[in-house]
Amino acid sequence: MRPPDLHTLIRQGAVFYVSHSGGKDSQAMYAGIRRRVPHDRIVLVHADLGEIEWEGVQDHIRATIAHDLNVVRANKTFFDMVRHRAATRPDVPSFPDGGRRQCTSDLKRGPIYKFIRRDMNARRALVGINCMGLRAEESAGRKRLPPWSLNKTLSTTTRTVYNWLPIHALTTPQVFSRIREAGQEPFRAYATGNRRLSCVFCILGCAGDLANGRRERPELFQRYVELERETGWTMFPGQSLTQRAAEEEAPRRRQPRGNAP
Ligand code: SF4
Repeated sequence: MRPPDLHTLIRQGAVFYVSHSGGKDSQAMYAGIRRRVPHDRIVLVHADLGEIEWEGVQDHIRATIAHDLNVVRANKTFFDMVRHRAATRPDVPSFPDGGRRQCTSDLKRGPIYKFIRRDMNARRALVGINCMGLRAEESAGRKRLPPWSLNKTLSTTTRTVYNWLPIHALTTPQVFSRIREAGQEPFRAYATGNRRLSCVFCILGCAGDLANGRRERPELFQRYVELERETGWTMFPGQSLTQRAAEEEAPRRRQPRGNAP
């Protein structure tokens, strides 16, 4: 679709729902949106992942925003989700992966969409903008995403919701620059080497991030290891969490693909 004109959307009373994970991309996105959108049209929402997200991440968000933070939560946890999958489909991998990101859809997108629906109804808003900090540089799949699109799930005959990726074209250095320009610092995990944030142990995490998480949350690391044992499946295709985290210290040949119990 052709990108809508921001001023027209604002004139139409659009409400901008900014999904904030606490990560660098969310922080940079919010800083940019604040410069372009009136204060009272911005609504911040964070999907709380519970014990699996970085400790202090919500404090970090609150310290770097000038709005109230709406915190939403799914009625299940990552651990519930994996256990349910193991119980109902023991023949397939229990953990989500890049092609089946059930964690993102059930723990983040679902609760955020529910919040947007309710909030738009309460405000009687006719136009909503679902703002997300996804960037082209992150993956081939994200590169293909258009910066603007109609959100068919949230739109109805009486309500129009667009997806907007305001920092789609930014590079990682530009993201950090934007945070610095706002007079802020990114969340502390970046200073100790993290590339991504959100879950401490992400199904898409690189070895460095996972090793960093292990140093920060050894007890949580152990719970994932026990979950692998309990379900009989490794967290990554053909590779356990312990193996992947160890790659940071001793890079080695990748394990063959295919989840081995
Ligand atoms: S951060 Fe990773 S593990 Fe957590 S919800 Fe997102 S994709 Fe899933």
